[in-house]
Amino acid sequence: MIDTHCHIDFPEYDKDRDQVIKRAKNTLDAVVLSGTNYEANIGALKYAKEEKGFIYPSLGFHPVTSQNATIEERKSVQKHIIENKKNISAIGEVGMDYFFVKDKALRQKQKEIFLSFIEIANQEQIPLLMHVRDADKKALNIILDYEDIPYVIFHCYSGSLKTARRIMEHENYFMSFSTMVCYSKQHQDLASQIPIDHMLTETDSPYLAMTKEERNEPSNVKLAVKKIAELQNIDIENVDKVTTNNAKKVFKIK
Ligand SMILES: [Zn+2]
Repeated sequence: MIDTHCHIDFPEYDKDRDQVIKRAKNTLDAVVLSGTNYEANIGALKYAKEEKGFIYPSLGFHPVTSQNATIEERKSVQKHIIENKKNISAIGEVGMDYFFVKDKALRQKQKEIFLSFIEIANQEQIPLLMHVRDADKKALNIILDYEDIPYVIFHCYSGSLKTARRIMEHENYFMSFSTMVCYSKQHQDLASQIPIDHMLTETDSPYLAMTKEERNEPSNVKLAVKKIAELQNIDIENVDKVTTNNAKKVFKIK
């Protein structure tokens, strides 16, 4: 089992990060730590070094954060990514969040920034880990032009089934399902109809726990795997095997 998207570098874990990682190691084969800005990317590399072979880093710039960044800040994130390209599992999270951001000019800015990261993923042939909300179709239409990106991941997919079907036309495109599948009807409907061949699993910890008050953690990805198995009426072992192999292939996890 693999948690392909978490933020265990966040201050929410400062008091007991060791225990959280220990519980993750007892349950999972690996976790992908998704960087959200320059400092977080440095943290992702640090934790990946400390937990080599268990924590895999993805370096990015979250759309809601990056839309307010200066060009210099964006450039330093990109330079850092290129310098570390040999040691990262993906570029992300990057993308477009049209759920939080309604302002037209800011949306346009998000799109431009997203494009600048896509260019790097395409040029350097690094998987692209995307945060996309209310813009799944738009993001798909954009990335279709970039044929050298080895893998594309829609983290916490929440688009339409129609767009999901278009995503599945591409063998190297994946949709990740989080612990949200345990309680969200929308995600349950999607997870019951998307073949596990195109699925990854994640927690997005510390977010998306069973209740709003709770803090999520990577070991909880087992709850998502269990729920997906239930929704698809297949063995949990089978879901585990297929989604784990997908994650290993996409993020070069050994
Ligand atoms: Zn995230």
